Parts: sequence; C-alpha cells; structure tokens
Amino acid sequence: MSLATESTAEAKTFCVNHPQTETYLRCNKCGKPVCMKCVQRTPVGYRCKECLGEQRAGYYTATSLDHVLATLIGVILGAVGGFVMLLIGGFWLLAIFAGPIAGGIISEIIRRVIGKRRGRYIALVACVAIALGGLGVLLVPIVLSRGRLFGSLLNIGFWIYLALALSTTYARRRA
Ligand SMILES: [Zn+2]
Ligand SMILES: [Zn+2]
Repeated sequence: MSLATESTAEAKTFCVNHPQTETYLRCNKCGKPVCMKCVQRTPVGYRCKECLGEQRAGYYTATSLDHVLATLIGVILGAVGGFVMLLIGGFWLLAIFAGPIAGGIISEIIRRVIGKRRGRYIALVACVAIALGGLGVLLVPIVLSRGRLFGSLLNIGFWIYLALALSTTYARRRA
C-alpha cells in the first residue's frame, strides 16, 4: 500500500520553475520538466524558454555580407531567368517547370555561397532580388522602346515563372 503511493508520488513531475505545478510536459531538448507556462510549442516539439533562447541566438548567424551576396545572386540569376523566360515566354507551359527549377538552382547557389548560416530575412532578400532582376529584364526594354508595353506585360510565361521561382526560393530558404 505504502509502496504503491510512493511510486505514484515519484512518478509525478513538477515544473522546474514552479515547484507547485505538476506537469507531464518535458522540454524535448534538455529534458527538464516544465509546465504549460514555461514551455513553448515549436515545429520540433515542446521547448523550455532557456533552450528557445539559445536556439534563437545561435539560429540567425548570417552576416551582412551574406545578405549582400544573396541579393547579388538573386538579382543576377533573376535577370538571367527572366530573360530566358521572355525569350520562350510564348511557351508558357514551360514556365511551370522552369520556375521551380530556377528557384531551386538559385536557392542552391545561395546555400553554397553562404553555407549553413541563416538569416531571418535571407529568404525575403533573395526573393525580392530575384523579382527585381526578373522585372528589370521585363521593364527595361519597355522603358527603352516604349511601344510594346502591353505585349510584354502580358507575357504569361514570365509571370508563371516568376511566381513559381519566388515561392520555390522562399520555401527552400526557409526550410
Ligand atoms: Zn530545455
Ligand atoms: Zn512552470
């Protein structure tokens, strides 16, 4: 009888920060028992605040040079991709394949260049750069020639390509 109550008592865990609060949750990194108030649900499971703090500090390690490089790569390759799509824009079905491929190549090159470092805004920076590069290729001839504005803007292949390239890059960089 007393053994049974003892083992139940032992099985109870209490929050490391709130000794009065019984909890069944544990931080899945350090294993400390923590209550609902002390824990946060993350994509990788429950984490205590200390572990989340460490994770945040170590998570965004990209330097400003990394952001500059991501911008340059995005603008240059975005312009190349946009140019190719304008050339083959009539075949807009190709854009369905070209967009994700371009986004994959660009995010892979960015990954090679900046390595494992991550930045909160790298994905966004890369996407804006790709859009600027692509739109530059689309808009500069329009500004220079003036006349063919409408026709170029209606290049469906270009817009499909751009939307897919951006969503692929964003998803790959965030992953
Ligand atoms: Zn923890
Ligand atoms: Zn607590």
